[in-house]
Amino acid sequence: MRDDSYRHKGLRKKMILELKEKGISDEKILNAFDLIPRHFFLDLAFVEKAYTNMAFQIGAKQTISHPFTVGFQTQLLNLKKGEKVLEIGTGSGFQTCILCCLGARVYSVERQKQLHLTAQKIIDDLGYSPKLFYGDGYKGLNAFMPFDKILVTCGAPNVPELLKKQLKVGGILVIPIGDGDSQTMKKITKVSENEYQEEDFGVFRFVPMLERKAK
Ligand code: SAH
Repeated sequence: MRDDSYRHKGLRKKMILELKEKGISDEKILNAFDLIPRHFFLDLAFVEKAYTNMAFQIGAKQTISHPFTVGFQTQLLNLKKGEKVLEIGTGSGFQTCILCCLGARVYSVERQKQLHLTAQKIIDDLGYSPKLFYGDGYKGLNAFMPFDKILVTCGAPNVPELLKKQLKVGGILVIPIGDGDSQTMKKITKVSENEYQEEDFGVFRFVPMLERKAK
């Protein structure tokens, strides 16, 4: 496992102050950012920059989300300890660990096999135990439904019907919608079996949600 030095810990404190300034106010989320060494999830070449508010390549042409985006999406989920959460787009596994750290029971799906395998290793090393799946997140995880919360960390052209179906009544789906360069962050609350309430939360940039597993 990599070294988590005082320097890294100091950089994390600074990142947390920046997150606070930008509007991440939930202390439990900020504490999770303090506990998870973000530099473990990045290529060694980027370690020095791990705590700046930037997105980085993580392989397979994918990126780890900006810390602010991770904080913002997590805050929208309004997570409670013990809730069952489905994440689409494991990527580096950083967001997955933040969710675990907040006490969620996490299921996370990734369509790129290499990323799925690399994330599994880092997450094991850190001692968290979410259930990771190599598959197509458009389908969700029917065998494990219903979920209290669903978080999509790639830009989707539309809201996948199956994800809405796999949400509990009262549950929340956070998903960036748009198939161009940028997406609108949506929070969709399942009000009843067939009724959803939708709210918009600004513009973000994500890598696209693609159909089917990659090899
Ligand atoms: N939460 C990640 C974000 C990674 S970027 C992190 O913190 O690192 C989004 C990820 O979504 C990419 O790894 C991409 O391969 C994945 N993805 C895109 N379409 C998908 C799909 N249909 N099913 C599962 N994963 C998908």
